[in-house]
Amino acid sequence: MKKRGASLARETLFSVQDLHVTTETREILHGVSVEVKAGETVVLLGPNGAGKSTLASAVMGAPGLKVTSGKMMFDGTDITEMPVDERARAGIFMAWQAPVEIPGVNVSEVLLAVGECVPGYRQLLATYTKTLELSPFILQRELNVGLSGGEKKKLEILQMMALAPKLAILDETDSGLDVDAARTVSRAVRDYQKEQGTALLIVTHNARILQELTVDKVYVLVDGKVAKTGDGKLIEKIEKDGFSGMKLVMEDTSEEEG
Ligand code: ADP
Ligand code: MG
Repeated sequence: MKKRGASLARETLFSVQDLHVTTETREILHGVSVEVKAGETVVLLGPNGAGKSTLASAVMGAPGLKVTSGKMMFDGTDITEMPVDERARAGIFMAWQAPVEIPGVNVSEVLLAVGECVPGYRQLLATYTKTLELSPFILQRELNVGLSGGEKKKLEILQMMALAPKLAILDETDSGLDVDAARTVSRAVRDYQKEQGTALLIVTHNARILQELTVDKVYVLVDGKVAKTGDGKLIEKIEKDGFSGMKLVMEDTSEEEG
């Protein structure tokens, strides 16, 4: 199958540089730097409330978040002030932690709007639907309306496959997936990445979604800062020991900054 995504060359595709992000009320990210190379699998870990979804949302340019300093570069372009739809068109995809229900909008309408002009696209969608072990009838449903948690998460992955992004951010895609579904999704994402060279930034709380993937780099976000970076072994360590030691370090740092 022809490659529709990024090249496999390991050049920096995406970087967040000393990013500070605030909501209306307070600063959530206090100078975060993250780098993803083309085709890499990068994992973002961190306790609840660390700011992982905020970072992901800021990358997509979600409303309600303000970048007060720092910048985001994607594929050689500064996207810090770029509108949401342009970021998507540039090749950034986000699988949301809580996919929204959109009544009246059909799944197949959304997917066909994305790529109908690509030759063999309908067949491709049918193949991906099967790969994800989703019922073909899902394409006739309204977007996320009345779908199970697992179906919603798989549908996010189907949209990723349909869009062929250069960078896909998967925010807790594994939550809501049972053991078998997690394996199915992990395999599907692995095969898709091999085929398309898509870079992945995966936010997760358990390693199930990673079971079939090769992790290149791990960032641990604690209290809105990167507390630690490492390779795949760091995931095992955190699964065993938790985040507690790292949290302590970050609390000390934030006190210093007042
Ligand atoms: P994580 O995904 O790591 O669990 P989030 O990024 O969802 O964490 O949230 C980080 C912190 O920011 C939390 O304390 C959360 O309550 C807060 N937060 C997120 N979005 C908003 C918002 N729109 N307004 C105010 N606080 C927010
Ligand atoms: Mg989150």
